[in-house]
Amino acid sequence: MTNLFKLFLRTRLHTKILLGLLVGIPVGLLLGPRAEYIRPIGDLFIRLIRMIVVPLVFASLFVGTASLGNIRKLGRIGVKTITYYLCTTAIAIMIGLALGNAVRPGSGLDEDTKAQLLASYQTEALEKIEIARQKPSVVETLIRIVPANPVESLAEANMLQIIFFALLMGIAVTLVPGNKGKPLIDFFDAVSEAMIQMVHIVMKLAPIGVLALIAAVVGKFGAEILFSLLKYSLVVIAGLAIHMLVVYSTAVRFLARRGPLEFFRGIRPAQLIAFSTSSSNATLPVTMECAEENLGVSEEVSSFVLPLGATINMDGTALYQGVAAIFIAQVYGLPLTFVDQLTIVLMATLASIGAAGVPGIGIITLAMVLETLGLPLEGIALILGVDRLLDMCRTAVNVTGDTSAALIVASTEGEPVLPSSEGGLKADER
Ligand code: ASP
Repeated sequence: MTNLFKLFLRTRLHTKILLGLLVGIPVGLLLGPRAEYIRPIGDLFIRLIRMIVVPLVFASLFVGTASLGNIRKLGRIGVKTITYYLCTTAIAIMIGLALGNAVRPGSGLDEDTKAQLLASYQTEALEKIEIARQKPSVVETLIRIVPANPVESLAEANMLQIIFFALLMGIAVTLVPGNKGKPLIDFFDAVSEAMIQMVHIVMKLAPIGVLALIAAVVGKFGAEILFSLLKYSLVVIAGLAIHMLVVYSTAVRFLARRGPLEFFRGIRPAQLIAFSTSSSNATLPVTMECAEENLGVSEEVSSFVLPLGATINMDGTALYQGVAAIFIAQVYGLPLTFVDQLTIVLMATLASIGAAGVPGIGIITLAMVLETLGLPLEGIALILGVDRLLDMCRTAVNVTGDTSAALIVASTEGEPVLPSSEGGLKADER
């Protein structure tokens, strides 16, 4: 027994998290809805990592920008990042649309199942539609990037506003004459270091947190619903797998000139946490840690590219929206023209920019896409039952997209990323 315990202690972190995930499934099946009782352990874990997000992002982005001290380089990094994010998001939606058109997941759904799904999830769907209707317009979203009160932005964890303020403050501090700005940089440097240590402490709880989260999801999930939406779910999952394995691998291989396998190995803890929490925002501290320690990305690049990605880059979500829109149109027997499908590409890209990386946001932005296309909004009731499961998968893809961007931007900036295994993969060994 003690040997087993010692072995467990020596096991790498990501293996322990994976173990937590694998054990969580039978625990959830066994406990069924009673798995809700252990959910607070998972929620506690999510709160612990979310607690680190704001101070970590602000401090490290401020220090990163201040130490970069080069506005031109900052602009270049910004352009590369945003271009990569937009291109990969568009590719993701096109994969979703292509699969949706080829497999036609909505055509096999019989009338009884349709009526049943609509009835069971109607109330929940109406709530989501209401939230979607309250979303600000694109122009408003862009204006709101500038905070009226940065303290409010920090308190509300408004990522884009925090990024904007940290960047501007980082630039401003380098313009302060003499050495006066240095104490401020040193202070936030210490804050950022302390936050990284806090990530290490919190991650010790990750295996048990993940176990509880997965058990709660599995326990609540009815297998029948998955069965009736099997074709749709499989199309989304296949699309996500293609995007992850083909698009990111190709990008890492040709744009960063690094091995995709090492890349995937380095980001495993972040993918597992993203999968279990369904939130790119909550995963941020782990994502940043993996990018910096396992991939060797500098703090300057990771603290800009990753928080920005958690908010504006959601390839998995966009892909899912492509499939979901087609699915709903097919179930209702409404044909989507080529122009409609182009609208989906545009709308889903824009929607992913304006949405924060929190659980279930994809279904709300989907309502916006459906509205633009004139598709029946209540159609989201059809897919709500499997949304949590698909959310887990698409969040893992979202986080993978963000980290691939960090690696590519860092490598094109001449950083010695993905160091050999003697130097890197520290988080793996912890
Ligand atoms: N949960 C996803 C994320 O945090 C967003 C979504 O697709 O709902 O990235």
